[in-house]
Amino acid sequence: MQDRTAAGQLRDKLLYQKKNGWDVVDQDKEQEIFGYCEGYKRFLDRGKTERGCVAYAMELAKAAGFVELERGMTLTPGMKVYRVNRGRAVNLAVIGSAPMDQGVSIVAAHIDSPRLDLKPTPLYEDSELAFLKTHYYGGIRKYQWVAIPLELRGVVALKDGSLVDVSVGSAPEDPQFTIDDLLPHLGADHAKKPLGEAIPGESLNILVGSRPLRGEEGTNRVKLMVLQLLHQRYGITEADFISAEIEAVPAFNATDIGFDRSLIGAYGQDDRVCAYAGLKALLDLGGTPCRTAVCVLADKEEIGSEGVSGMQSAFFDTFMNDLCDSQNVKVRACLEKSFCLSCDVTAAYDPNFTEVYEKNNSAMVNQGVGLCKYTGSRGKAGASDAGAEAVAYVRRLLDDRNILWQMAELGKVDQGGGGTVACYMANRNIDTLDAGVPVLSMHSPFETVSKLDCYMTYAACKAVYEG
Ligand code: MN
Ligand code: MN
Repeated sequence: MQDRTAAGQLRDKLLYQKKNGWDVVDQDKEQEIFGYCEGYKRFLDRGKTERGCVAYAMELAKAAGFVELERGMTLTPGMKVYRVNRGRAVNLAVIGSAPMDQGVSIVAAHIDSPRLDLKPTPLYEDSELAFLKTHYYGGIRKYQWVAIPLELRGVVALKDGSLVDVSVGSAPEDPQFTIDDLLPHLGADHAKKPLGEAIPGESLNILVGSRPLRGEEGTNRVKLMVLQLLHQRYGITEADFISAEIEAVPAFNATDIGFDRSLIGAYGQDDRVCAYAGLKALLDLGGTPCRTAVCVLADKEEIGSEGVSGMQSAFFDTFMNDLCDSQNVKVRACLEKSFCLSCDVTAAYDPNFTEVYEKNNSAMVNQGVGLCKYTGSRGKAGASDAGAEAVAYVRRLLDDRNILWQMAELGKVDQGGGGTVACYMANRNIDTLDAGVPVLSMHSPFETVSKLDCYMTYAACKAVYEG
């Protein structure tokens, strides 16, 4: 029989023990965590669309000395460059002291979030109320988007080549919008429908007006009034919606959650919580890193990373080629030695929905950045499934710096699943591991994360860049 101390030592030595991060960090670190999250909340409020994220990221990057990457540029260690992809995605790099054929250290996150996009011909009037028709983007639970305040953000591209920025609902003097829901008094039949069918996609119509144009007769007077106001404010006509990208997003800003202010509630934290971590870590790099550090903020992850601004786009390859060309290095020689942290959120274990989680392999709130060896569904389909060596590399990287991390699997086997940009990086012959912040109410209009986990993810990104 071993004595208690020996058993305790054995426990420390042999057991994989999870820790609540607040028990581990000291008071100075606590202040750092809270300070970091103030900047993160500003990023969320400015970046409610992918274009908004890029614009704000550019402000921060330029202030930190980043310059636009031009093809043929001579790149010397310590130089900071960026390239924006059509206003919707951006790659940034800090050139390392080691040549590019030693590989680069990448953090890749996405800045698009689930939302309601306006249809190309959105505006209509029914029963003297004006609405905008929407087509939802990404995986949403549609019932969550009714009866909440919404704002509109986006751009209208005019035929003359100019771009009009549209934003209504975020300024204090602005009106906001909403989608109406059925009253419970008349909801007897409606309440019997399954959750996924109760609010059909085609009924997500945004209420935008009810006042008829004064002195007018005939139909569509409310719609005409809305068009007149839009024309006065933006100089646009109904046909201009055809070449527009306008997103309806929740009109509330990021806020602290809990008496202890330990959490953040906000829209769009998947995956802006990791995008900010990757960006901020790059901006905060002190000095020249050994390997070149690359931060990727991608678009279109929520709909499969397709398209010209998604992670599958050759935009990334062109960016890497241009970096490598400056040192006469073949890009394939660079990529095969590179490492990518695919930084994306994971599901946090939710004690209110225990039936869908397997507790031993779930990410817990406040236990640090969640490392995810594989994502996917139905037997890991669609996952890149990182090699054991890649996981070991990150374990060492984080443990050496006392960064709190945990292993994470998204829910029970065959309960569902999801994907990230990881597979598209791995397909390029880059060792890639998923890691990110555990989120409660993921993909809802109001997602919740732990401030400690946000900070640990930032620290993990920094560790990857520093190599
Ligand atoms: Mn995501
Ligand atoms: Mn997502």
